Amino acid sequence: MKNFYVLPELPYGFKDLEPILSEEQLKIHYEKHHNAYVKNANDLLEKLDKVHEEGREVDLRAWEKAFSFNVNGHLLHSLFWESMTPEKKSGEPGKKLGELIKDNFGGIEKFKKEFMQTAMTVEGSGWAALTQCPKTGRLLLMQIEKHNMNCYAGFKMLLVMDAFEHAYYIDYKNEKGKFFEAFWKIVNWEAAEKRLDNEY
Ligand code: MN
Repeated sequence: MKNFYVLPELPYGFKDLEPILSEEQLKIHYEKHHNAYVKNANDLLEKLDKVHEEGREVDLRAWEKAFSFNVNGHLLHSLFWESMTPEKKSGEPGKKLGELIKDNFGGIEKFKKEFMQTAMTVEGSGWAALTQCPKTGRLLLMQIEKHNMNCYAGFKMLLVMDAFEHAYYIDYKNEKGKFFEAFWKIVNWEAAEKRLDNEY
């Protein structure tokens, strides 16, 4: 099988986000859940290539729906691992990102509140993301349902938080708000700031 996509290495060890996320929680999320999205996206591409080679027709509506779920699952998890860092390295947003957050949300505490509200109110499973509009440079929150609904086209993802139950249930059970609150202790502000200027 061709590996169109590969599971990226974690930028830290499985124990390095403790006590916010346990080794067991992080390991199953990365090795089982993220890996499944990579595998499914690759399988779908392989299937598409085969159908094209054989000159058959593909049910594009179904294929595209399945692909967008799995490829975004892979891309968002890759961003999620980079959105976190061991607690001692977390700190505060850098100057440029900090200014933008102040201008667009009225301050860091207001931003955190709205980000957590975005995560808390996802219908079913989904994500909270801090994004930047490619046209205006404005920062906006995005609430993604599943992995692929309600996305703004072309917006740059700066910081994402997984609000699927599988992201926190081992450690936080039904108290997802506690995970969203604790997430700020391990946010990788440096990586978010870098994405302001860089492509990913
Ligand atoms: Mn997840």
